Amino acid sequence: MHRDVSALSSGPFDLLVVGGGIYGAWAACDAARRGLTVALIERTDWGAGTSSASSKLIHGGLRYLEHGWFRLVRKTLVERDLLVRLGPHRIRPLRVVLPVDRRGRRGPFQLRVGLTMYDWLAPRASAWAAHRKLDQHELATRCGFLSTQDLNGAFEYGDAVTDDARFVLEVVDGSIRAGAVAANHVEAVALLRSAGGVEGVVAEDRLTGRRFDVRARLTLAAAGPWLSGPPFRTDAEPDPIRRAKGVHLMLPALPTDRAVLLTARSDGRPIFLIPWLGRTLVGTTDTPFKGPAGSERVEDRDVDYLLTESRRALVDQPWSASDIVGSFVGVRAMVASRAANPAAVPREWKLGEPARGLMLSLGGKLTSARVDATRAVDAVVHRLGRGLASSTTSSQPFPWAPDGIFDDWLDGAVSRGEQLGLDPEAARSIALRHGRNVDRLHTLLAAEPALAARIAAPCPLVMAEVVHAARDEMAGTVDDIVRRRVPVAILASTDSAALAGATRLAERELLT
Ligand SMILES: Cc1cc2nc3c(=O)[nH]c(=O)nc-3n(C[C@H](O)[C@H](O)[C@H](O)COP(=O)(O)OP(=O)(O)OC[C@H]3O[C@@H](n4cnc5c(N)ncnc54)[C@H](O)[C@@H]3O)c2cc1C
Repeated sequence: MHRDVSALSSGPFDLLVVGGGIYGAWAACDAARRGLTVALIERTDWGAGTSSASSKLIHGGLRYLEHGWFRLVRKTLVERDLLVRLGPHRIRPLRVVLPVDRRGRRGPFQLRVGLTMYDWLAPRASAWAAHRKLDQHELATRCGFLSTQDLNGAFEYGDAVTDDARFVLEVVDGSIRAGAVAANHVEAVALLRSAGGVEGVVAEDRLTGRRFDVRARLTLAAAGPWLSGPPFRTDAEPDPIRRAKGVHLMLPALPTDRAVLLTARSDGRPIFLIPWLGRTLVGTTDTPFKGPAGSERVEDRDVDYLLTESRRALVDQPWSASDIVGSFVGVRAMVASRAANPAAVPREWKLGEPARGLMLSLGGKLTSARVDATRAVDAVVHRLGRGLASSTTSSQPFPWAPDGIFDDWLDGAVSRGEQLGLDPEAARSIALRHGRNVDRLHTLLAAEPALAARIAAPCPLVMAEVVHAARDEMAGTVDDIVRRRVPVAILASTDSAALAGATRLAERELLT
């Protein structure tokens, strides 16, 4: 993946997509595969907005059943099933343990009804995800770290987990392979307006400061929470979205491969503890956010809420503030709604069309972005008056999905990695994180065996990934590498030798 900013001036393109989160990535990929000429620009880095700050779940959303959002749950469960099949390296099944809290708001009967409905709404092929009740022995074996003091049994069900930033990166690469011109660190600073409507944008390359026009017949703004401000909206126009802030913490690993879904005692919200790259991802908060996109911060009260609610569920309450190794914050953009509580605002997606030539991608989820983007591209094709092929993203494997039988490929990739000096867990992790591109990492390791070293001991990320990110994954800054492509900045403390080592290597590679 290489950045070609000059090609952006070669328009007019059929479609310009502004925003390289999961929605922009899928829209650009789908449109390019259908034969449209496409440009995709992103003001910072691929996935740097909400799409790298999610809970990383590809899920139907069990709790949405309480709100009666059955259509949404059905849609996202169908997507979960499809994405697991199309990208088995990227979207990994995950078992989730659901303890029943004696002092909680939902009893075993209510939970069993919800889980049965969740299974029932899922496609038939999702039998792997079916729920079951856990007896005391099973619970103790799988999650012995859960305090049983207030427990009234537990269930287990299936969903899926991903690395959201790499998910976006892979789909962006898919768009480039299909012919799109895509560049990160390019910001749309103004809309190009004429009597006929919007004809593209004035863009700025944020790495050089150069400004230029990107011309297009249609512009799709997939700018997430940035849609509330310029250049997409003036203060005189109604805000098309509603925003809520969500914080996650990274804490030490728990001895399990299961996620745990807790219910916060203070407000009844769901809190996930998710095993992720050698740590436990704890989240999320959900509070209204009114400031400019990008100004959101992790605050003490967010940390207190997550720590208090997660600690109380664990034997001996092991975690304290000093155990937090990292944190991140993102802003959810939802279709504008009057609901008082952000948790009650539907996670539906909608296409806005505020002016001729301009469309807005509003709301949605990481899980449903692919199918929602096909609807945006259907509308684009319709507006352009073209009889172009329909979407293929529901049948084409992910861009980095390996050929052949997946499990055989994975066994082969792990054993090759081990021969090259990786420990077994890291060998498996890099195969899953890079898919068919793992061959390039193996080539790097064969030339420089020292790159097989882990960056931070508890996490299966290795130095070769930093080199690969700088050379082959369109990283423009050190942050692009250590926050998203190889996310050691959220998995290791900011003052750690691990982060310093990865940063030095990233700097050196970006300079050469
Ligand atoms: C805390 C939290 C947890 C979540 N957990 C889950 C989950 O587990 N599963 C799930 O399915 N969904 C989850 N979601 C929802 C999901 O993350 C979002 O729906 C999704 O990431 C939105 O993607 P997007 O592409 O619309 O927006 P974004 O990812 O925000 O992308 C918009 C992009 O536009 C860029 N941009 C903005 N302005 C400009 C400009 N002028 N020029 C160029 N580029 C610009 C930004 O830099 C940004 O990268 C969660 C959301 C939050 C906040």
